[in-house]
Amino acid sequence: MKKIAILGSTGSIGTQTLELVRDNPDLQVVGLAAGSNIDLLEKQVREFKPRLVSLQSSKACGDLEVRLADLPVEVVCGMEGLIRIAEMEESELLVTAIVGMVGIRPTIAAINKHKDIALANKETLVTAGHIIMPLAKEKGVSILPVDSEHSAIFQSMQGENRERVSRLLITASGGPFRGKTRAELENVQLEDALKHPNWSMGHKITIDSATLVNKGLEVMEAKWLFDMDLDKIQVVVHPQSIIHSMVEYADGGIMAQLGTPDMKLPIQYALFYPDRRPMKGKRVDFYELGCITFERPDMETFTGLKLAMRAAKEGGSVPTVFNAANERAVSLFLTGKIRFVQIPEIIEMCMEAHKRIEAPNVEEILACEQETYEVIESRLIL
Ligand code: NDP
Ligand code: MG
Repeated sequence: MKKIAILGSTGSIGTQTLELVRDNPDLQVVGLAAGSNIDLLEKQVREFKPRLVSLQSSKACGDLEVRLADLPVEVVCGMEGLIRIAEMEESELLVTAIVGMVGIRPTIAAINKHKDIALANKETLVTAGHIIMPLAKEKGVSILPVDSEHSAIFQSMQGENRERVSRLLITASGGPFRGKTRAELENVQLEDALKHPNWSMGHKITIDSATLVNKGLEVMEAKWLFDMDLDKIQVVVHPQSIIHSMVEYADGGIMAQLGTPDMKLPIQYALFYPDRRPMKGKRVDFYELGCITFERPDMETFTGLKLAMRAAKEGGSVPTVFNAANERAVSLFLTGKIRFVQIPEIIEMCMEAHKRIEAPNVEEILACEQETYEVIESRLIL
């Protein structure tokens, strides 16, 4: 029996992880954390019987406690609750499937308690990779990528000499606005941005895919996960999303991982690594597929990717500012307060306003996040 805890169990990655638990009786869920979706969390608790669960607000926690009075489950709350679940003694692996920098502290807490991490929450590595990766190494903890590109890279490195890697090739679908000009982006609507051509995901990452900011975050995530120089990471647009990413070696040979676009495969690979369990679902039919294509990313139109590369190069606290500005801008776009093209404009404004810190600690990272929100509030007329 493998005991796991999940942060973000009510989200896209969280619910797919639980579907895999349903299909694999030797997985046991001991802890679940969600933000505010009390109805779904209650259902999950009744089905999966964890010992500890958490919600964000104390009001919601009180309500959940009343609803679950007939079960032997403890309800915990907020950041403290996330950390309690991350540290649970009986848990062997923590799935980090929450969105945003709220994942930093619980991820560090879990590593300190020697839990392996199945990492979906890329924002944590983007902003605190310089803390997380050395800590994981020190504690002998595996950081198993859930993000499909990073899982593909990880899979393409099995049995290979990592010293011989010459390049990581991260594929990108290009999002729903691939091929559009800057002028055409001026008037795109929220519902268009939420229509991802290949993947079904949470709202924030779907918008990040439309701006190509997601690919920028993934470059930074790959840099930390695989300890790779930025000039050895290349983004390749591949609209069919069949090749999930590739690794080129010193002899020019390229290893790739292919499959239908379904997050369950990378999630399952992280849960059972190094095993490959059977899985239901559609298979790639190459006769039907016919051809796959590749393009250069258009960084002049999708300036979010260009800014991400700049943030990655500058390093230190700049990726935190990039990420925080994007998080706030995306939430303003999702609530109809700004236009799509303002997302990269807001990121750039915050990056310009920031004074870089070389190797920020967690407090400094969270302070940079706060400062970035304040810059947006004070300078943006909504
Ligand atoms: P969703 O928005 O679907 O889900 C987010 C989850 O986090 C929900 O369970 C939500 O709870 C919870 N949550 C949000 N804020 C808090 C908080 N403050 N405290 C506790 N829980 C919180 O996101 P996704 O599943 O799409 O993405 C999760 C992470 O995985 C992101 O970092 C994303 O970049 C990454 N990722 C996602 C992929 C995908 O296919 N979806 C692919 C690759 C990476 P509630 O809904 O109850 O409020
Ligand atoms: Mg991805």
